Amino acid sequence: MNKAVFLDRDGVINEVLTNRVKFVNKPQELYFLPGVPEAIKKLNAVFDYIFVVTNQGGVGLGFMKESQLIKIHDHMIAELKKEGAIIHEAVYCPHKPKAGCACRKPNSKLIVDLGQKYNIDLAHSYMVGDTDTDIIAGKKAGTKGVFLGKSDPLADAVFPDLLCAADWIIKDAGAR
Ligand SMILES: [Mg+2]
Ligand SMILES: [Zn+2]
Repeated sequence: MNKAVFLDRDGVINEVLTNRVKFVNKPQELYFLPGVPEAIKKLNAVFDYIFVVTNQGGVGLGFMKESQLIKIHDHMIAELKKEGAIIHEAVYCPHKPKAGCACRKPNSKLIVDLGQKYNIDLAHSYMVGDTDTDIIAGKKAGTKGVFLGKSDPLADAVFPDLLCAADWIIKDAGAR
């Protein structure tokens, strides 16, 4: 079976609610957080797959068309690839936050579906996020959870950014 790292997008890969960007509604608004290409490159060396798993309720709420979201993800993947960092697939929940769908995190459908599609051993995989909904979704799917921020009661580890998290994940994966 394959091993994967699932990454939340906003607040993990790119800025959100900063001075220069509120929510990312077009490709030009995607600003990578420091160290992100390097972190993904390191993870690529150890893991079979790196995925992005993101809630994009702005589509359901009418702030952004789904075609625009796909353009943002194509741009994100292409820019990272220029740095040698490979994202194998970016999946998203486009529904309204209160729609009650199965895919919006903290539900785990997006992760579980990728797991089946790519034959992933979820118990030896990781979900990285900056909200507890990310960690809960990962736990429901059976992954370990790595939180970016100050603290999270459910997470297996907490770090300030993806680069620090990647170093820990690589060590943890090697120790199992
Ligand atoms: Mg986030
Ligand atoms: Zn959904």
